[in-house]
Amino acid sequence: MEVQHRGKRVLGRGWRFLKSLFGICLLLLFSTASWSAAYFFIHYLLEAVGRQPSDYVGQLFTQLVAFVTSMGIMGTIGVIFRDKHMERFRPVIDAMQRIAKGDFTVKIPPNERVTDQFGELVESINHMAVELNQMEKMRQEFISNVSHEIQSPLTSIGGFARILQSDELSREERMHYLGIIEKESARLSKLSENLLKLTSLESDHHPFERRRYRLDKQLRSLILASEPQWQDKGIDMDVSLEDVNIEADEDLLSQVWVNLLHNSIKFTPAGGTIGVQLKRNGQQAVIFISDTGIGISEDEVAHIFERFYKADKSRNRSTGGSGLGLAIVKRIVEMHTGSVAVQSVPGQGTTFTVRLPALP
Ligand code: ADP
Repeated sequence: MEVQHRGKRVLGRGWRFLKSLFGICLLLLFSTASWSAAYFFIHYLLEAVGRQPSDYVGQLFTQLVAFVTSMGIMGTIGVIFRDKHMERFRPVIDAMQRIAKGDFTVKIPPNERVTDQFGELVESINHMAVELNQMEKMRQEFISNVSHEIQSPLTSIGGFARILQSDELSREERMHYLGIIEKESARLSKLSENLLKLTSLESDHHPFERRRYRLDKQLRSLILASEPQWQDKGIDMDVSLEDVNIEADEDLLSQVWVNLLHNSIKFTPAGGTIGVQLKRNGQQAVIFISDTGIGISEDEVAHIFERFYKADKSRNRSTGGSGLGLAIVKRIVEMHTGSVAVQSVPGQGTTFTVRLPALP
């Protein structure tokens, strides 16, 4: 592709050089022709009126007439060609006006030579329209996903609030419905928090403060902080952490480990095992977070880092996620020039592997 482009550029340059050479030749021809015409015209005129001027006056008149004639001819040619030139730009101007109005389906027919600079302009406008069209589709998909995620908790909050207005409910029933409303509100709040975080992370304006710290200590303290959750489910924690120093934004990375750990706890049935391993591999810190949970099918693994993607949607309704957690994980890891991968066997478990640059 690059070679093809360079070839086009070289051809374009050669073509432009030939055009300039042709222009110079045409100019010389014009000047000679108009000077000769002026010379014979002046001499004929003076002879006709029976005058014989000095050489100086004859030359002066010839130069003047030649100058005025060539200016006149060139001016006329300029006007004709300017109109023709503007005609080439008409489809480009029309396309730009349609793009400005939000119509990104425009395509200027590439009927010009691609080696020509005008051809390059047409190509770039067509490319820009395709990119804008794609962004517009993503924007619409994003809005529809957000609306859907907001709609379902709101519907359930509205429904249970209506039921709660009945006087015939027992105290237990009332508490049960209030509990659901509280959970759904928390889900909405988490959704907006995650959305804001992801938008900020993707904007490149998110504060990013790297500092040197011990990754094993951070992982250990986060595992301890989530003890109530894994203890509640009777989950076994298998932890093995080598001492590894990294230079990273501690708060951002803590979000990565929390998201991965919480997913493992969420998707592992009671009595299962979660493993957290940290190893140094040359210049890299490699972190494995594995579980003996429900796993993810092969088709779904390809999508789980996409925003709003939830594997097995019916199953996820009960777990209450919004499908943003892993998109946040991926973004933060990439900001640290690391990588994240997943391996999973449905019914057996899942392992997330994060690789980050380690300090010596
Ligand atoms: P959510 O908030 O829904 O958990 P995530 O982006 O964190 O969103 O995860 C996307 C989907 O990936 C989840 O809905 C779930 O189906 C799947 N998933 C993530 N982690 C695991 C895991 N450890 N075990 C099984 N499935 C998982």
